[in-house]
Amino acid sequence: MTNATAPAETEAREMTLQNLGEFPEGQKVLSCMQCGTCAATCPYGEVMDYPPRQIITMLQAGLIEEVFKSHSLLNCVACYACMAKCPRGINLTEVLLPMVKEQMFATLTDVPAELQKALQNTLRYGNPMGESPRKRALWTKTSPVPVPIMAEIKRPVDVLWFVECYTSFHPRGQDNSRATAKLFHAAGIDFAILGNEEKCAGECARLVGEAGLFETLTDYNMMLLRKYPFKRIVTGAAHAYDAFKYQYSTVGFDFELHHTTPFFAQHLEKLKPRLTKKLDYTVTYHDSCCLGRHNGFYDAPRALLGAIPGVKLVEMTHTGVNSICCGGGGGGMWLDTYYAAKGYERLSDRRVKEALDTGADVLAVSCPYEISRFEDALKVLGADKRMVVRDVVELLAEAMED
Ligand code: SF4
Ligand code: SF4
Repeated sequence: MTNATAPAETEAREMTLQNLGEFPEGQKVLSCMQCGTCAATCPYGEVMDYPPRQIITMLQAGLIEEVFKSHSLLNCVACYACMAKCPRGINLTEVLLPMVKEQMFATLTDVPAELQKALQNTLRYGNPMGESPRKRALWTKTSPVPVPIMAEIKRPVDVLWFVECYTSFHPRGQDNSRATAKLFHAAGIDFAILGNEEKCAGECARLVGEAGLFETLTDYNMMLLRKYPFKRIVTGAAHAYDAFKYQYSTVGFDFELHHTTPFFAQHLEKLKPRLTKKLDYTVTYHDSCCLGRHNGFYDAPRALLGAIPGVKLVEMTHTGVNSICCGGGGGGMWLDTYYAAKGYERLSDRRVKEALDTGADVLAVSCPYEISRFEDALKVLGADKRMVVRDVVELLAEAMED
């Protein structure tokens, strides 16, 4: 687990680049010993004009405007690698870089078109795809099990399932949601969703520098969460999990919170009797940046995969804290065209090549962004017949015969 803590982020709300030295968290930033670990560990470090180490130098020299002008941090995909490795424990990804990005974003006159569209869609429709909010719960009509909606059932539930955007609208994300619903039923969990009322949790907007949009979404979702009675929140969206845990907590979010992967690992004994179908797959698991480096959930997904009859688990060269980012965080989902125009290798391609090297036929994930990113990378590499991408919950649901 990394050094991120909610109090640090509380502080970050009041701290600015200009008054860092007045806050313990800011003093930590200024304690940088220029070791260069952050630059060396950054997946886009070689193409970044100003990696974290240099940003701190520029800040101390009063030259931070140069960093804004370079648009350097559009290459930051918020992978938490620099933060996890910094020997000074500086909260780079969570605290310093969002502050720099926010000011950079305010001066950016040529926001990449795909990113701009996603942010506009999020503001207007509550999801980056620009889908109608009225269709958010449409996937429930094709669920193999009933999916109750809070506004309709009008009673308290044990689990409020925050579905999020890709898992509501993207066809492969909807597969993930149908599998999750099946697992809730199999584990005997009393659950419901927010349905069409739900909006994006906004974490990627924040991490790309759109703090205003993130605050708008935070205010809306907090109002919505307070409207309904429930005991705990479960979400399969790793970025929403992070937003709730580290950011919403600064504005009163005090609900018990779980990500689906560790949640179902806690309920594994209830699920095991239902895992009766043998899946003869060789599976390699990708540790996502949010669940892995940021929150330390390395064992839970592997415990779930290990409980599926027939599954053989093999590991990639880079796992755990050293996992290679899929490139989708911090706005990276909507920067592929921008990166391609600059001639950068897509991080999802880099990761998929490593997955293929294991000889596995399934690449398992626990973050909804990764399914579409890795499936696309497999197609680009001409390897989509050799390997498929499945969320851990999809594999569990597949191993249930009814
Ligand atoms: S890893 Fe930490 S201490 Fe080392 S240069 Fe980067 S910010 Fe400074
Ligand atoms: S969070 Fe990741 S992408 Fe961003 S600067 Fe740090 S190592 Fe690089």
